[in-house]
Amino acid sequence: MKKILIVISFAVSIFIIGLVSINSHTVQDRILNIGLKNILSGTEPFLDREDTLKVVVCGSRSPLPSPGRAEACILVEAGDDIYIFDLGNGSMDNLVQYQVPWPNVKAILITHMHSDHIADLPDAHLQSWVQGRNAPLMVYGPEGINLVTKGFELAYLADYQYRNEHHGDDMLPMSVAGYNAIQIRDNKLIKNNTPGLEILPFVVDHYPVNSAFGFKISYKGRTVVISGDTIHDGTVQKYSKDVDLLVHSAISIDLVERMREVAPLPQLNKILFDIQDYHTTIKEAGEIARDSNVKHLLIYHAIPTPRNTIMESVFLRPIENLFEDFSLSDDGTRVIMPVNNNEIVIDRIN
Ligand SMILES: [Zn+2]
Ligand SMILES: [Zn+2]
Repeated sequence: MKKILIVISFAVSIFIIGLVSINSHTVQDRILNIGLKNILSGTEPFLDREDTLKVVVCGSRSPLPSPGRAEACILVEAGDDIYIFDLGNGSMDNLVQYQVPWPNVKAILITHMHSDHIADLPDAHLQSWVQGRNAPLMVYGPEGINLVTKGFELAYLADYQYRNEHHGDDMLPMSVAGYNAIQIRDNKLIKNNTPGLEILPFVVDHYPVNSAFGFKISYKGRTVVISGDTIHDGTVQKYSKDVDLLVHSAISIDLVERMREVAPLPQLNKILFDIQDYHTTIKEAGEIARDSNVKHLLIYHAIPTPRNTIMESVFLRPIENLFEDFSLSDDGTRVIMPVNNNEIVIDRIN
């Protein structure tokens, strides 16, 4: 009994000391400095020593809202170089939080020009500028990508000038403000300076979007296909033959139909009907993965993106008995593929 009382009084003393300490300016300052250093420094989890092909989901949702998730964004790291495929709304918040080293970001690649794939381009422009970009931001995309970047340049011209005047030419030179937009073409490799890396865009059908692409990325024997937004017409399946990882968008007709039944506005009901005809269903995504013999299927841009485990379970029902090796991504899902073996490691970046 005496021992118990001693332990309790010791614990109470520690608790009181803790309470008093946390209100001490010295203690607060020390804790704060450690926290601030963690926010602003370090490139981990990027640029580790092992030579790998990595995929990080920097935005897992479709335009239908799902709190805590960003719109479409897939980061690919090949060795030390980083390429970012799409930058939907919220994805830049994630990339800043993940402490992406912008000098290592070699280009942004856009699958198509729906807003949920391009909205955060201006934030990428600012972040890369602040971190010492020495040329306009490279953006690869479909026909018309130059109009998108020109539009952003016009909209942000005053912002460029304000920041240049405030921080100076050495810090934010106007000579590198803006974008270098390059149109991609079906089945034509994208030039890059990363040893061992091939990026192959291929046209997909996302009608009425008149130009939409998926990408196949190969790095020293490891392979990834990113579907972008598309119907299932056999194209993604063709390019996905035997790849390590297929990152595929998917719609649940079941869930979208249930949402239509309870939609409070006729406009929402119509949109939920219209979107069904230009996306791949979750069942089709499973069939594509199975028939093209991919090692792992990673679902992103889920429509709707599940908000809880029941919704997730209903979303995944059609794929349950079709294909085993799949996962439904979240923001921060990371897939690591070392180049010297066939391993596929899936974890989270945060
Ligand atoms: Zn989309
Ligand atoms: Zn789209």
